[in-house]
Amino acid sequence: MTMNREGRPTRPEAAEDAGAETWTGNRALMLEEPLLFEIGDTRTTGVDIEAVGEGDDAHLAGLRRTRPIGLAGLSEPETVRHYTRLSRQNYAIDLGLFPLGSCTMKHNPRLCEKAARLPGFADVHPLQPIDTVQGALQLIAELGEWLIRLTGMHSVAMSPKAGAHGELCGLLAIRSALEARGDKREVILVPESAHGTNPATAAFAGYRVESIPANAAGRVDLTALKARLGPDVAGVMITNPNTCGLFEPDMIEISRAVHEAGGLVYCDGANFNAIVGRVRPGDLGIDAMHINLHKTFSTPHGGGGPGAGPVVFSEALTPFAPLPFVDKIQADGGDRYILVEEECVGEHHGRSFGRMTAFHGQMGMFSRALAYILSHGADGLRQVAEDAVLNANYILRRLEDLLDAPFAASGPCMHEALFSDKGFAEGMTTLDLAKGLIDEGYHPMTMYFPLVVHGAMLVEPTETESKAALDQFIGALRHVAERARAGDTSLKAAPFHAPRRRLDETLAARKPVLVYREQDTAEAAE
Ligand SMILES: *Cc1c(COP(=O)(O)O)cnc(C)c1O
Repeated sequence: MTMNREGRPTRPEAAEDAGAETWTGNRALMLEEPLLFEIGDTRTTGVDIEAVGEGDDAHLAGLRRTRPIGLAGLSEPETVRHYTRLSRQNYAIDLGLFPLGSCTMKHNPRLCEKAARLPGFADVHPLQPIDTVQGALQLIAELGEWLIRLTGMHSVAMSPKAGAHGELCGLLAIRSALEARGDKREVILVPESAHGTNPATAAFAGYRVESIPANAAGRVDLTALKARLGPDVAGVMITNPNTCGLFEPDMIEISRAVHEAGGLVYCDGANFNAIVGRVRPGDLGIDAMHINLHKTFSTPHGGGGPGAGPVVFSEALTPFAPLPFVDKIQADGGDRYILVEEECVGEHHGRSFGRMTAFHGQMGMFSRALAYILSHGADGLRQVAEDAVLNANYILRRLEDLLDAPFAASGPCMHEALFSDKGFAEGMTTLDLAKGLIDEGYHPMTMYFPLVVHGAMLVEPTETESKAALDQFIGALRHVAERARAGDTSLKAAPFHAPRRRLDETLAARKPVLVYREQDTAEAAE
């Protein structure tokens, strides 16, 4: 391995490109960034503080360090540069179109960021006296009312912290409802095309998972589903629109059949962006559905902490919803918001299964989501769904002559366009195309998911992309797709223009090196 003059290993592949080798390992603004431990070392410190003397223990309350902490000492500018350089190696929605299907990577309105940063929301602590957080509780309650209104459901649990967490919340409520009537059902049915979190959640909640096949049109096979229903089936988990980017037109009939067989219906609402303002899941017979606030109602997905996956419930499941929840009461002639922390009497939450988290949700996502909803209004939200669907169909129709679109014949898609690797030259794969897209300056689309399509490529542009941005992306994708069809073998070595070249993804997933050890660099330097 080559080393630069400070003894740091340079990218081994840099030498492959004639004339690309540089003294630093950097390539213009593509910076080669070592680890913190390689910039600093554990024997130095970036700041000058007086050494602790023998008699100083009193100041330390007996907490004198007994051994080195093993962190690299860096000055402030070194630290700032390290993280800023790393941040430049990221792809972000603020840099370009992010076609990752199923993730709804939409523009993150700055208005929502501003709302989330208001100190009254940003700096609240979950253990503050209730009188000091009335505004924050009102915000949670109002957001919850919007979610109930938009989904046509009966109640909402705001505490789950992500979609997958919401799935668990929904299944625990379903289990409680079944147990309350003395019914111990063991099976959850999940369609083949489901997101991996669905079967994982069902298994985690103690259920046996059985798969329901898709039909030729990419939808749940209704006949197969009906045939499997019976006294051992606790419920189904269905994503609608589904992960092939298609609406499930039989949803009402599915719900009716499941209810008739004594089961309950969970809907994975991650794709709500495609139908918000147009379809109310409550009208489709759904009993519980999570909403990824960090997808449909303003990104970012992290939200400055975890995301947020509120769950809306039907009337039948409402008594079993988790604690705590925010309630509005009348006191001193005005509204007062309270947190119901314990099972209260009465039908509302009367038989709660317990808690999902210690507190009541993710304030940073709540303030963004309510700002997003209020700035759009109900009509604006419907427009969001319509434009998201329009953009996806534009991509589908502009590419279907070059990329196989397995379900395009059955009509328009919803918010995402699905393609397969059919038609690629021998030996060329979806992965090669994705790597070629990196060289074009785009984050790849979702690959090899859903599993029902060979070499799947799932593209979700979202509503926030202009036609010009879509055309540029389509142009890039067409160029790479043509290379894949023509068997351009240089695509096999892509990416060429990224901080790292083709990685061994299996090794990276199976044997990730997550802990820095001094000998690792010593070995690497050899
Ligand atoms: C994103 C997603 C999930 C999981 O949501 P998280 O918030 O990431 O936990 C589940 N199902 C589908 C279809 C999704 O797209």
